Amino acid sequence: MTDIIIIGAGPAGLTAAIYARRAAKSVLVLEAKSYGGQIINTPDIENYPVAAHISGFDFATKVYEQAKALGAVFKFEKAVGLRDNGDTKTVITAKNEYEAKAVIIATGSENRKLGVEGEDKLVGRGISYCATCDGAFFRKKDVAVVGGGNTAIEDALYLADVADKVYLVHRRDAFRGEEAGVAKLRERDNVEFVLNSVVTKLNADRRLQSVEVTDRQGNVRVLEVSGLFVAVGRVPENQNFASLIELDSAGYAVAAEDCLTGTAGVFVAGDNRRKEVHQLVTATADGAVAATEAVKYLNA
Ligand code: NAP
Repeated sequence: MTDIIIIGAGPAGLTAAIYARRAAKSVLVLEAKSYGGQIINTPDIENYPVAAHISGFDFATKVYEQAKALGAVFKFEKAVGLRDNGDTKTVITAKNEYEAKAVIIATGSENRKLGVEGEDKLVGRGISYCATCDGAFFRKKDVAVVGGGNTAIEDALYLADVADKVYLVHRRDAFRGEEAGVAKLRERDNVEFVLNSVVTKLNADRRLQSVEVTDRQGNVRVLEVSGLFVAVGRVPENQNFASLIELDSAGYAVAAEDCLTGTAGVFVAGDNRRKEVHQLVTATADGAVAATEAVKYLNA
């Protein structure tokens, strides 16, 4: 029996593992994909204290290695369910069942789809959700990014160094992401903002050929791009645990800053928790809080 199972090895889960191990609790981290969560796709983190610049991959690798060196055990299995047995909890994965005295759900979020016809079929054939992963395929080509948050801004900046031309399509004229990034984009002469516009059609044969966008007045424009990078936000990954934690209408876990859920011994941390500011620094903060609360629960 493990003291604390942490579901998710993103910044929140990894930080929780560090805090729980430093409190001498046994820790099993279950991760469906690879360690790091969404931050691994961020080319350059500029707003986390200590380093003016660090790549998401380097950041995640350092925290992962720190947690491993402290004795956290990692298994790369997707948690598909959670059972409350009272004093113990059972985490169900596709392969196994694991028991723990406390569980921290730090599953983060996944890419939101644009919802335009043909999107799924064109993934890997022009449509991507990760500029750092796929940007190199569009060297010297024209691409579009859709979204107005920090991810879209960072993706557009990254692609401006790789592609010939980058259109940034956003449904409003004000950006949700940081002004510092928007200002950098304005300085690039190969970046064009296409504002108050939404993607209404994907033109493709086997691969994406162009993207149709429509503005608020109903004017249609065709962007001749071979790549479309979708960065329209994230959807929290809580559904597999919905029987034990309260979710709001958008699917976020309802828990206050103490990361406690309605089920004793079950905690939530990171981007899957409902909160005002979803940032790297608040994800790691959640990890520290959730682990501290879990330790308190175990020692009570
Ligand atoms: P986000 O901040 O939720 O932004 C999503 C953007 O997509 C918004 O501009 C939204 O428009 C737009 N959008 C949503 N649905 C759409 C649709 N169906 N069609 C067209 N546009 C749509 O998401 P994010 O950029 O992925 O960022 C997620 C969180 O991670 C944020 O808190 C962000 O600050 C954080 N993040 C931080 C860093 C960093 O600190 N370095 C880097 C990346 C992300 P509206 O604005 O009109 O709603």
